[in-house]
Amino acid sequence: MTEVCFFSMPSAEAEAYWAGGPDANGQKPEVHISQGGSVPCRHCQQDVAEGEPYLILAYRPFPEAQPYAETGPIFLHAEPCARYPESGRTPRMFLKRESYLLKGYGADDRIVYGTGQIVPSQNMAGVAAKIFERDDVRYVHVRSSLNNCFSCRIDRA
Ligand SMILES: [Zn+2]
Repeated sequence: MTEVCFFSMPSAEAEAYWAGGPDANGQKPEVHISQGGSVPCRHCQQDVAEGEPYLILAYRPFPEAQPYAETGPIFLHAEPCARYPESGRTPRMFLKRESYLLKGYGADDRIVYGTGQIVPSQNMAGVAAKIFERDDVRYVHVRSSLNNCFSCRIDRA
């Protein structure tokens, strides 16, 4: 079976937002205070704790704008945090949620139709490995199954 690797937001991108850089819409990230609950940070893959500041920004996890380059809201700790290590281990935070949307993309950064599916969290790595059996899939996106927000990318290890 294909080994997979969970790939969180690169630290260079997070650092640019922490420095006040613009988001994918050219706007300054919004600063909010967590009320607790579901506020997943895309860099460390942990929920922002109640009372801690976090950023809301428009994120485009693709190299360039094109029709398939979905841009949407994500959360990020407002203070620097440690990036979730690149590994085949499903981030624990994901396992606290019931399910995620997995979707394969090709080398052209476009959806590979037929790969999108809602998957129980504990099955994510296995389903991603199955999607990678298709040669035309370059990477898989993990997205919120309810809101389509980008969570992380899965690559072949
Ligand atoms: Zn974080």
